[in-house]
Amino acid sequence: MDVDVLVRVPVREQEPKVRATNFEEVCYGYNEEEAVAEATRCLNCQNAQCMKGCPVSIDIPAFIQQVKDRDFEGAYQTISASSALPAVCGRVCPQESQCEGKCIRGIKGDPISIGKLERFVADWAREHGIRPKKAENANGRKVAVIGSGPAGLTCAGDLAKLGYDVTIFEALLRGGGVLCYGIP
Ligand SMILES: Cc1cc2nc3c(=O)[nH]c(=O)nc-3n(C[C@H](O)[C@H](O)[C@H](O)COP(=O)(O)OP(=O)(O)OC[C@H]3O[C@@H](n4cnc5c(N)ncnc54)[C@H](O)[C@@H]3O)c2cc1C
Ligand code: SF4
Repeated sequence: MDVDVLVRVPVREQEPKVRATNFEEVCYGYNEEEAVAEATRCLNCQNAQCMKGCPVSIDIPAFIQQVKDRDFEGAYQTISASSALPAVCGRVCPQESQCEGKCIRGIKGDPISIGKLERFVADWAREHGIRPKKAENANGRKVAVIGSGPAGLTCAGDLAKLGYDVTIFEALLRGGGVLCYGIP
């Protein structure tokens, strides 16, 4: 795929006349070829400004390099070390004022589509049955988390990574909190 380093690889979307007839996602997201092409635009900055704009300090240059190398599972593990909800954040974070707003590539061209790459990696991992790494050792302690919204899921995920045996209690039929009402 030909890439102009100053221009974003466009993301495919539903045609307006089609999208008006359904409630599916408008944006299809990147496929593998598009994601790798977009990743090649990243400068892999030593002093990566994008990370300073990320509230959870994802190692953005590292995961983009892994996408470049087609190591999509590695990219997922890199993101998962800092974020429990990459499929959601890749869709709803205001990247234009956070990571992408600080991207060095954006000084002379389009910033890297960090959110679309994050979404691609998270969706790829889900489609291939990849999960975040488990704790190496259980610490023998149990924790109950009340509520399965983004806060509860993140808390449970982080505690599980530290070796706790976590049970989530949810009052509604489905997990996900407000997110399960279909916000993304
Ligand atoms: C209409 C709307 C649109 C939004 N759009 C966006 C957006 O585009 N982007 C964005 O970033 N944010 C958006 N938000 C905000 C975002 O959804 C919330 O900030 C987020 O869901 C809060 O997460 P939470 O985990 O704190 O709480 P919640 O998502 O509310 O989760 C709390 C969970 O706890 C459960 N619970 C409560 N009490 C108990 C109990 N006693 N026992 C068991 N379970 C219990 C509830 O059923 C619920 O599932 C939106 C919010 C709304 C309402
Ligand atoms: S600032 Fe932009 S170009 Fe530099 S590492 Fe981050 S995403 Fe890549």
